[in-house]
Amino acid sequence: MNLVNISEPDKKKSNNILCLGIDFGTTNSVCSVKIDEKIIYIEDSKKKLIPSIVLFKNQKVYIGNQIKNSSISELIFSVKRFFTENPDQIIFDQGSNKKTAIDISKEIFSYIKNLSQDYLKQNIDDCVLTVPAYFDEKARSGIMRAAFLAGLNVRRLINEPTAAAFAYGLEKKKRGLFLVYDLGGGTFDVSILELKEGIFRVLGTGGNSKLGGDDLDILFAESILKKYFSVNLNEVDNDLKLKTIKKCKSIKEKLLNKKSVSEKIKLEEDEKQINIESQLLNQSIEKLIDKTIAIVENLLNECDVSISSVDGFILVGGSTRLEIVKEKLKNKFKINIFSELDPDLVVSCGAAMHGYELLNGSKNLLLDVTPLSLGIETMGGLMEKIIPRNSPIPAIREQIFTTNENGQTSIKIKILQGEREVTSANNILDEFVLSGLEPKPAGIPRIKVRFSLDVDGILFVSAIDESSGKENNLVIKTNEQLSIQEMRELVSSSIQNAKKDIDLRLLIETKIKATKLINEINNVKPMMNKLCTTKESKEITKIIKLMKIELKSDNKDKISNLIDDLNDKTKNFAQKIIDSNFSNFVGKEIDLLDKS
Ligand code: ADP
Ligand code: MG
Repeated sequence: MNLVNISEPDKKKSNNILCLGIDFGTTNSVCSVKIDEKIIYIEDSKKKLIPSIVLFKNQKVYIGNQIKNSSISELIFSVKRFFTENPDQIIFDQGSNKKTAIDISKEIFSYIKNLSQDYLKQNIDDCVLTVPAYFDEKARSGIMRAAFLAGLNVRRLINEPTAAAFAYGLEKKKRGLFLVYDLGGGTFDVSILELKEGIFRVLGTGGNSKLGGDDLDILFAESILKKYFSVNLNEVDNDLKLKTIKKCKSIKEKLLNKKSVSEKIKLEEDEKQINIESQLLNQSIEKLIDKTIAIVENLLNECDVSISSVDGFILVGGSTRLEIVKEKLKNKFKINIFSELDPDLVVSCGAAMHGYELLNGSKNLLLDVTPLSLGIETMGGLMEKIIPRNSPIPAIREQIFTTNENGQTSIKIKILQGEREVTSANNILDEFVLSGLEPKPAGIPRIKVRFSLDVDGILFVSAIDESSGKENNLVIKTNEQLSIQEMRELVSSSIQNAKKDIDLRLLIETKIKATKLINEINNVKPMMNKLCTTKESKEITKIIKLMKIELKSDNKDKISNLIDDLNDKTKNFAQKIIDSNFSNFVGKEIDLLDKS
């Protein structure tokens, strides 16, 4: 027998590093990947649209097209909406099974990742994820966390309108002004994008979070019932109402490029075969389309953009397939409209193209990494770096900090940018105070500081006291603070001053250590007389005195030596404290705390 190597029929051999482009939608999600110049859409039950619906049943989780026909009351849908409120709030509660918006989205992301891996027959971790332009930092970092929990490596978070512009290759034009009109299932979003040197900036966003295809379906259903059954939609019972709306949605979609369709519609006992014309659809939804146009006009005004300076409208979202939408926009604005690409898939397609460039492209996509380190000020005016320079963005980093004094009830978080060791040599971005901490001994509280930086240089900083749950946060535009020249200077000054800076840091740290040691000994002074010999006590007091003098100088080595001496001389004493009655010791400590 002759054995010949036969490759698997579907397996795509490619040299490019694969990066998924994921459009996580309110109604539908789409995932695609660029392989050798071609965009491949990941299919879910042979469909490119993956309904963003989740069902928990019998300890299992089901997602997408397989549950499309389940009873609506069982399904969790529109989870994306919760990200702008609080992604950590519990939105599904079934006794012991409690889920936050992040948990549920994580399931959707896992599902999409697995689908992709099965479809392409290989492991894929990298993705470019899209979010609405209006998403704030909290929503963005929430989505990133959900994707991260699903095992995805989010190489970039990009705005949905920007992804749509990428899909049309508009970044190659280098400059221009575009308006992205996104009418989806449940929402209407409009954004104005400015393209400069191949980089898109969102000039402004507008829209209505409760206006979309679903609302058109209701209006259409109302018209059909009124015209052919002489009843109002609100007069029929809820189940039938939902069924009718679903039916009208399908008729709406079937009417694409058609003058009319013939459909059987059943209302309780009454069943009719009706010829439904597109004109009826247009009449019933016209008002809502006009509403979207008013929102577009408003945004143009708000951003002070005249329609003549706009280079084109990009149509996104399934509902822009409606001929009436294109017609109305053309008539009103008399402008070039980009609508050749599938409006459902265009966002994911742009994300996949961007991901391909990011991982395989020759050109350097700007702002791929942080130009300067970001961090906060700690004791003694030192900078603690949380996101180091040249970290890939978007980036989320967390670090735990603690208090420096006994009974401290507030801490100041000063946010710094730069490479130098000391605060004063860096750029101070902003600051905020976290107050209401429960008074505790120094070093005991755990304050979690989170930095989350997106591709546009927007930094979200939050500080949470883990025991009380008290939180404070703020948002900073990091890349509007310094010019490129100033950034270069900060970096080069850090190189020039590296030795000096390190010495200074070590000196400050040594001084902090010495001060802490003195404080610790002072705190247990009452015991010293009890547990130490007079000689020992005298020696300890003497070193402390010398140390206090040295602390006024800047001689690191001398202070360091004294620390060693003091540690040495108090070794016995420390052991005796441990050996002596422990509860007594704790009581003393609390006594001291109350006094401070
Ligand atoms: P989202 O981004 O909000 O998740 P989509 O962009 O996937 O939503 O759009 C879904 C909407 O598009 C639904 O309301 C659907 O009825 C509508 N839609 C899809 N195809 C058509 C069509 N041929 N004509 C009119 N509406 C359509
Ligand atoms: Mg969408």
